[in-house]
Amino acid sequence: METGRVLISEEEIAQRLSEMGEQITRDYEGEVVLVVGVLRGAFMFMADLARHIRVATEFDFMAVSSYGSATKTSGVVRILKDLDEEIAGRHVLVVEDIVDSGLTLQYLLRTLKLRRPASLEVATLLLKGDMQRVPVDVRYVGFTIGPEFVVGYGLDFDQLYRNLPYVGVLDQHSL
Ligand code: 5GP
Repeated sequence: METGRVLISEEEIAQRLSEMGEQITRDYEGEVVLVVGVLRGAFMFMADLARHIRVATEFDFMAVSSYGSATKTSGVVRILKDLDEEIAGRHVLVVEDIVDSGLTLQYLLRTLKLRRPASLEVATLLLKGDMQRVPVDVRYVGFTIGPEFVVGYGLDFDQLYRNLPYVGVLDQHSL
């Protein structure tokens, strides 16, 4: 299987997640946070980040699929699995794998806001430095990357590569 080149190593991810966890711990001190993982891409990031959060934490999951081609989203989002929990009055932290155009996240946040959480913030492992991005407020960003299509550490291409322990870029010929 072609894996391409490493963009962000396991060590870099571990170091950054520990910093993000500390920041989240400070920000939510004395509160209970409901961490909402967006499946499937965020599963690995969520699990590793959670180990660094030192406040009372609960977990829930959503699954969404964005319509569009394999590598570009259209912003039309379908909720495949909704939350099990009610979020009214709770501190919700949405955990995403990657924000590109921001359309998926914008839709998700709009939907969740209508349910009146006490607070609603976002942690993403990766943010693409995309000038076309819609304005979405992302409080916690792991890494800002270029426009290339990345895989690994939860992120897929055609459902493969999610298990790579690092974030990589596939070689052009393997796409
Ligand atoms: P957005 O709506 O922000 O443009 O795109 C968000 C979704 O598109 C992500 O949750 C992810 O599923 C997919 N996506 C965007 N860029 C990449 C990428 O570089 N690699 C992978 N594997 N998925 C991506």
